[in-house]
Amino acid sequence: MTVSAVRALFSVANRPEVVSLAGGMPNIADLPLAELGESFNQLVRGNGIQAMQYGSGQGELFMREKICEVMAEEAIAANPDDVVITCGSQQALDLVTRIFVDPGDVVLCEAPSYVGAMGTFNSYQARIHHVAMDEHGLVPQALAQAIVALRAAGQKVKFLYTIPNFNNPTGITQPLERRRELLAVAREYGLLVVEDNPYGLLTIEGDPLAAMRSMDDEVIYLGSFSKTFAPGFRVGWVLAPHAVRERLVIAQEAAVLSPPVFSQFAIANYLENFDWRGQIDTFRSMYAARRDAMLDGLASFMPPGTTWTTPNGGFFVWVTLPEGLDSQALLPRAVTERVAFVPGTAFYADGFGSRNMRLSYCFPTPERIVEGCRRLGKAITDELDMHATFGLGTDVARHRPVSGPAPNVT
Ligand code: PMP
Repeated sequence: MTVSAVRALFSVANRPEVVSLAGGMPNIADLPLAELGESFNQLVRGNGIQAMQYGSGQGELFMREKICEVMAEEAIAANPDDVVITCGSQQALDLVTRIFVDPGDVVLCEAPSYVGAMGTFNSYQARIHHVAMDEHGLVPQALAQAIVALRAAGQKVKFLYTIPNFNNPTGITQPLERRRELLAVAREYGLLVVEDNPYGLLTIEGDPLAAMRSMDDEVIYLGSFSKTFAPGFRVGWVLAPHAVRERLVIAQEAAVLSPPVFSQFAIANYLENFDWRGQIDTFRSMYAARRDAMLDGLASFMPPGTTWTTPNGGFFVWVTLPEGLDSQALLPRAVTERVAFVPGTAFYADGFGSRNMRLSYCFPTPERIVEGCRRLGKAITDELDMHATFGLGTDVARHRPVSGPAPNVT
């Protein structure tokens, strides 16, 4: 495990004068804090002895029942017995990797994919193999080819890790038809699918799409309250076929004995007594305004040759820089202009992504987002001018695949 240079830059990027389009922190300012405080107070007074005690390794039954109600929003019909509560979906990733992956095994990931998941896979010494995406997400033919080629080379391919809704970092969503095609490939080749879905309910236009798990009971589904409620409770979950679920509970007991009981009481209480669907709608409009600000800002300030995705939810836009530019080389100039982003290479295990950057619109105000885009546009334009003036071509050294895990960015 290594510390990256990008992390060092973020200590500067976190200064208040810098518009950070880098972090992926959920924006929870709209939560009804006074009412929540009151309900936590009652929880401690009325139920504190239980809520502050150790609990079940699998997670409390009332929490697992509530989670089944949440998953029904994405057409999943689940039994609470098949749910395991985790410390955020990050720990769900850890447990799933722990029970399936031996050093040297292959995990298939989108190209690009969530840096925190790749950090987990790396920590178990998995080999990450990226599968191509198009504007509808993972390409089924590319998935089939990867499985065939890797198996022919004697590699053990343990599972596909995918984020079908508003992928972190690209913001791309797999349409329903694409999900079915990918599941058909997985079934044909006997490949396990791990569906990571922390953003699915945060759609901008239209209702949430049916989860892959709703189409195939063999899919291992990861969920989280971090983006639909608040990340500080550290409550996520895994929905898994029975045999896998049993192993996950054993792994969970070995890891933390029981997931945070107080958090489960607090969240179950919130789901029972607050209008959580209404709260998600509030979050959706708040993020929609921020997404629109970012798309407007990019359209106004990006130089020609720059392109970007148009997410329908989640937190992220994925930018492709004009030919010859390198986002990692651009970052110090951007920070000097007081704007920060995450270079695209963070989201690849193999050094690709040097022409890309991830911009997140979740946290700053719409005005700050537009200002951030203006500053970024200036940094990119200045970098292009420097290339034009000094004839700097693509720096080969910068495009060399980097070794070691990606930086710790959520
Ligand atoms: N998966 C994805 C795709 C994420 O973006 C994140 C957080 N950024 C996580 C999992 C982990 O979230 P948590 O542990 O808070 O549930």
